Amino acid sequence: MDEEKEKPKKENNRVTQKKLRKASQVLVLILVMVLTYLVYSVAFSVCWLDPMWHLQALFANRFDMGTDTYFMEGLTRIFVPSVLILGAFVLLAILFGRIFCGWFCPFGTMLDYIEGISPFRGKLHLPRELKDPGIKYAILIGFLILSFMTSQEAFCEFCPAGTVLKGLTGHIIFLSIPVFIVTLFIVLFYGRKTWCSYLCPLGAFFALFTRFHLFGIRAKKEDCTKCFMCNKACPMDVLVVEKYIQEGKKINDPECIKCMDCVDACPIKILKFP
Ligand code: SF4
Ligand code: SF4
Ligand code: SF4
Repeated sequence: MDEEKEKPKKENNRVTQKKLRKASQVLVLILVMVLTYLVYSVAFSVCWLDPMWHLQALFANRFDMGTDTYFMEGLTRIFVPSVLILGAFVLLAILFGRIFCGWFCPFGTMLDYIEGISPFRGKLHLPRELKDPGIKYAILIGFLILSFMTSQEAFCEFCPAGTVLKGLTGHIIFLSIPVFIVTLFIVLFYGRKTWCSYLCPLGAFFALFTRFHLFGIRAKKEDCTKCFMCNKACPMDVLVVEKYIQEGKKINDPECIKCMDCVDACPIKILKFP
């Protein structure tokens, strides 16, 4: 009897959590688009919302510019604010892993929708050699070195998200256009995972914190019926059952973006977050 009373409550929680994620994604996307449109002409403006910009800003060697004035300006206008803002994103990652990717990233949201409407999804298969999550760490390290060498936020010249967002304001970033076209192609044919798991440097940065993040999705091993519905639902191909539930661990996979699809797919609702 008690169990029967519990069921609708659990169902409501599940729906609310899923709706919250979708609402968060859409709200952040709209907010970032509006802010980009309104304030992009102001120096630095919307870049201040972008953790990748701050990460590169810390590496862009602005202190080696010859004069004390440049040193102080680099320190007070960029270095300290970037440490604080990036610190807030890092704290979020330490608490909840790659939740930025699943709940807040405006580009990830766009890719979700592009993948959702693609008639080509699943028509081609990515060669096995290219399915390597390690590629994105190499891209991250490469662009941080480039930022240091050029004293600029180097990835911003290639960022496919910048093509869309800054394009709204009429600012064309020429180098990023071919990257955007290639990204669009791979998401249309191979899905969002291809960009977010193998290529995105910001996804690589957040993935560094997932192994030891505090609040993960978990389930009791003995409750699991091994129906594998969670594995099938996962857009990032995480082996939820084999690597986590059966090992009695929370899901701390570097590719888990806290999308909640596995929680939603479990027919007996044993997966819990946080
Ligand atoms: S992997 Fe990159 S593009 Fe994908 S959601 Fe994360 S930050 Fe956004
Ligand atoms: S389905 Fe589950 S394991 Fe897969 S990315 Fe989403 S939350 Fe993580
Ligand atoms: S969907 Fe639920 S019951 Fe099925 S394997 Fe996953 S956790 Fe276990």
